[in-house]
Amino acid sequence: MTIFVCNLSPTYAKLNKSMKRIYTALHLPDAHIVVNLLRHAGIAVQVFNVNASGAFGELPMESSLPQVWLEEDKDESKARALIENYQRTAVSNIVRPCSQCGEENPIAFETCWSCGKAV
Ligand SMILES: [Zn+2]
Repeated sequence: MTIFVCNLSPTYAKLNKSMKRIYTALHLPDAHIVVNLLRHAGIAVQVFNVNASGAFGELPMESSLPQVWLEEDKDESKARALIENYQRTAVSNIVRPCSQCGEENPIAFETCWSCGKAV
């Protein structure tokens, strides 16, 4: 079952050797923010594990958390700076549920990451 319908589409591409994991997200909205941040900065990224999660009530293993990978090593320092800045100012730990689909959204989101409804 795919619950993820936004532009952070699941990626089944093979990991390329030159790719580098830049970020492991705590949850999908977190991955979504980082991916948007990096893509807006012109950095090519892939996301893995967007559909993987532990059974309900079970903490997912780190290996099953959403991971953001850089396509190009050269973007690493820029990407890290953006992510550090995001983490410093992160409001992603504050979430509110969507009134339409019930998914939790970071408080900074104006529209639901899952269904697109204004929150
Ligand atoms: Zn929603």
